[in-house]
Amino acid sequence: MTVESPAPSPASPAPADRRSSRHQVVIIGSGFGGLWATEALAKAPVDVIMISGTSHHLFQPLLYQVATGVLSEGEVAPATREVLKKQPNATVLLGRVTEMNLDAKTVTSVSPVGTTVTPYDSLIVAAGAGQSYFGNDQFSEFAPGMKSIDDALELRGRIFGCFELAELSDDPAEREEWLTFVVVGAGPTGVEMAGQISELAHRALPREFRRIDTRKAKVILLDAAPAVLGAFGDKLSNAARKQLESMGVDVELNAKVVGVDNTGVDIVDADGNERRIRCRCKVWAAGVSASPLGKQLAEQSGAEMDRAGRVKVNPDLTLRGHPEVFVVGDMMALNNLPGVAQVAMQGGKYAAGQITRRLRGEPPGEPFKYLDKGSMATISRFHAVASVGKRIHLAGFFAWLMWLGVHVMYLIGFKNRLTTMLHWAVSFIFRGRSQRTTTRQQIVARTLMARLSATEEALKEAQENEDAIKPSATTASTASGGNSQSETVESDSVDQLSAAYGDKSAETDEATSLKQAPES
Ligand SMILES: Cc1cc2nc3c(=O)[nH]c(=O)nc-3n(C[C@H](O)[C@H](O)[C@H](O)COP(=O)(O)OP(=O)(O)OC[C@H]3O[C@@H](n4cnc5c(N)ncnc54)[C@H](O)[C@@H]3O)c2cc1C
Repeated sequence: MTVESPAPSPASPAPADRRSSRHQVVIIGSGFGGLWATEALAKAPVDVIMISGTSHHLFQPLLYQVATGVLSEGEVAPATREVLKKQPNATVLLGRVTEMNLDAKTVTSVSPVGTTVTPYDSLIVAAGAGQSYFGNDQFSEFAPGMKSIDDALELRGRIFGCFELAELSDDPAEREEWLTFVVVGAGPTGVEMAGQISELAHRALPREFRRIDTRKAKVILLDAAPAVLGAFGDKLSNAARKQLESMGVDVELNAKVVGVDNTGVDIVDADGNERRIRCRCKVWAAGVSASPLGKQLAEQSGAEMDRAGRVKVNPDLTLRGHPEVFVVGDMMALNNLPGVAQVAMQGGKYAAGQITRRLRGEPPGEPFKYLDKGSMATISRFHAVASVGKRIHLAGFFAWLMWLGVHVMYLIGFKNRLTTMLHWAVSFIFRGRSQRTTTRQQIVARTLMARLSATEEALKEAQENEDAIKPSATTASTASGGNSQSETVESDSVDQLSAAYGDKSAETDEATSLKQAPES
């Protein structure tokens, strides 16, 4: 492994090549696929290097509970190196992988201290998927997705912030806007979010506010498809819809979102009718697209990709023409397997098994076979739907108990299980939401960082243009024109930068910054 630092820095790791003579497995991603693969290699005669853009393992299925104040981020995202501390053959590196070179067998990752190039003998790519706005990335500014801890904390700030701002408002129409919550996407994440926001409004918060009745909040679940939880079949889909409606959630199906801005969403219904819902808090829980690393793998190997950007793999999860490269989890396309945690875990374990078998000189095992352990979604406290195999389709309390058992079982670490169960007791048996702290930075950082990078890009482009038109010594008469153009760009950019860094919002309080962030 070599590390090249862009500038000498005391924090930079010293350039080193610490590679041992053992077979080196590089794993990209610390999610379900990456972590399960790493753990399955604990006893193999290999060195494992896990490179991940985050220093934690994220239990995505419980993110919605972080967003709605039930759980803290630490409970769903333990530090990966803590999880792997008892596995001496595993090294964890923080870094965003920017390049994989399949010919040179190297992975390049970047971090604030520089660029790291890590060679591999075997590679397992488990970089997961991101949110898809179906080509409308501009929606993301106003409707955060639910893919990361940052997303969940931002949403937590927005959701609780809307109740705060409704309490401040004297204008009934404006109050209604603050108290209207729209969740886009009626899959498990959308259903769980809508259910939790409704519980917040009806159970957890009413006694805490003096000027507003939080029970008057509207929670609207929208989907362009004709069913809630379509993948669960008609019976469970209908049961889920009924339960949501009994909790006061307004379920609007066949409703396609065509616009999202600061004050609302625009919708086209199946009959072509166009309408607008005025609301401040929007949650995007529709659509995923695989990590862009999939495109690199496809381009270098000639493998195909599906519409969601997932890489089509061989039946043993290897990449076309590259038996040393495995693609697992949400990034892989095989036999229409769904993007769920079990596919990633089983894929990660399978890839590790194949590598171990090869090193022992054994013939390759059977092709990857997914064991479907069922799917579940919780709708409210004590109510969930669960579908296991062809026979078991449950809705209600027993399904919720199953959901509880499975989630506790798969949560990483004793401490996390214990504190999670305590927080569930507080929220499910009593009414509390103990994890509600949010900061202004959590609410506005994503938007401001996006603006900052856009500004930096614009500056870079302006600089390049300026370089391109820089006059030579023989055309000095045009120099002042060139310079003044450059100055204008700089002063505009300074304004944009200070806005992006929050100079304007620094004068305001937390609540006002929430209100202004999407507009400024
Ligand atoms: C809100 C939500 C709820 C869900 N609920 C359920 C559920 O109830 N049941 C279920 O079975 N499934 C559920 N899923 C799906 C499940 O979480 C995924 O299928 C699973 O996480 C996929 O695992 P993975 O390892 O492929 O990817 P991930 O778990 O997403 O892990 C990807 C890893 O790659 C890292 N990474 C990404 N890009 C790079 C890069 N360029 N460089 C370095 N590292 C990188 C990330 O930091 C991360 O560590 C849910 C997903 C979400 C978002």
